[in-house]
Amino acid sequence: MFHPSHTLAGKDEVPLMSKKEEAPLPDKYDNFNEWYNEILQKAELVDLRYGVKGFIVYRPNSMTIIRQIYRLFENELDKCGHSPCLFPVVIPLEFFEKEAQHIKGFLEEVFWVTKAGEHELNKPLVLRPTSETAMYPLYSLWIRSYRDLPLKLYQSNAVYRYETKATKPLLRGREFLWIEAHCAHRTKEDAERQVLEDMEIMSRVLHDILGIPFLLLERPPWDRFAGANRTYAFDVLFPDNSILQIATTHILGENFSKAFEIMFKDEDGKLKYVQQTCFGIGISRILATLISVHGDEYGMVLPFDIAPFQVVIVPILFKESGGLVMDKCKEIRKRLCERGYRVILDDSDDRPGAKFYKWELLGVPVRVEVGPRDLEKGVVTLFRRDTRERLIVEDGMLEGKIEELRSDILRVLRRRGEARLKKCLKEVKNRSELLEVARKREGIIRMAFCGREECADEIKAETGGFEVRGIKVGEEAGELGVCAACGRSATQIVYVAKPY
Ligand SMILES: [Zn+2]
Repeated sequence: MFHPSHTLAGKDEVPLMSKKEEAPLPDKYDNFNEWYNEILQKAELVDLRYGVKGFIVYRPNSMTIIRQIYRLFENELDKCGHSPCLFPVVIPLEFFEKEAQHIKGFLEEVFWVTKAGEHELNKPLVLRPTSETAMYPLYSLWIRSYRDLPLKLYQSNAVYRYETKATKPLLRGREFLWIEAHCAHRTKEDAERQVLEDMEIMSRVLHDILGIPFLLLERPPWDRFAGANRTYAFDVLFPDNSILQIATTHILGENFSKAFEIMFKDEDGKLKYVQQTCFGIGISRILATLISVHGDEYGMVLPFDIAPFQVVIVPILFKESGGLVMDKCKEIRKRLCERGYRVILDDSDDRPGAKFYKWELLGVPVRVEVGPRDLEKGVVTLFRRDTRERLIVEDGMLEGKIEELRSDILRVLRRRGEARLKKCLKEVKNRSELLEVARKREGIIRMAFCGREECADEIKAETGGFEVRGIKVGEEAGELGVCAACGRSATQIVYVAKPY
């Protein structure tokens, strides 16, 4: 009798499907845009038909992943002594205007609420593009003494920005999901430690759990967050060699505490301004990154710990053995649920091939297939999504093997991502090399730089949009020589890339 798990001449063969059905998506490196748009649609992640530019509908298949991403970061923030809060979505104009640099940076892209019912509002309201100016007036009421510090709050919310650049689902929208953490500290040193803690949180989630390689860069002065003294950003490389900023953490110094009069009485009895930091984690963008960095022509490939379903069980049913197979599947589901895994048993009427296709598209890391021959032999067939390999495992070894796959899948995904980032890092020594790498869109450029904004502007103009993204945190500059772009003496090593 025909049985899929017994006809595995090649490991990648999925015998119940035709070749054409096997790979539902194009190669993401050949045509990333097409791949990205297709995966969003075929995996039913988001719907773009809402009809308001820059606003998308998150369907259950994306929202369940987003919930997991939120959970990871919220757990980390909680562990580091942050508390959750939620401020209103509207900000009164007089709050929004208080910090001069901040309003300058955001004024062009805010949505206004100016009318309610038939009446014009006396005071227009701003839909939050970020919440500094919503939260800090309250911070000035709550903080009185050094005993109130540090104050570490975060909120998980949506923010609104009237993007004028082309919008792209999850990457650049006019509404997006994020977490923003806002801290008030007693000293500059405490603020600096906070920024290091933010970096560690990002690294623990991105590297340790999601297997996503990143560059941690200090942004140049002209590219800082509006109102910040220093901005550190996490950039990730996409399959089309563009890069995406997925998180930032900022030292705000006393810029906002002076504007909002957030003061505390220190131990020495003196009134002082608090030292502030803020930290933004782009949840929508991290979802886009997970999809794009790990995905392939069969769909998403999710690391085990983030997957809404970590294991899918697919019964291979035949009339005479259907009951036994289904009993076994239910027993396995029970065993795996008891181990704490998120498991789904696909007992729908679809053919096994259709089930394989569906759950691969959704990136479920491990599939368990149970057929009558497996039952006879006391084994089950496992399929790992990252390498698309099948392996036969003795029934009693199932839990152990899945636990092994949990870390091995992550290791494989991380290694792949890191190898690609390394391959796409291009060292350039002079202008012609710089222009050549930019023209071919080969990846991220590493070069000696003079530190001048005019030079960065020239690079951007001549390369069709490559930006000086900043200095890598913790990297020693070494021998500098001259700026690869302009030939003046260099002051730093920078990374230059084309952002979305
Ligand atoms: Zn230069």
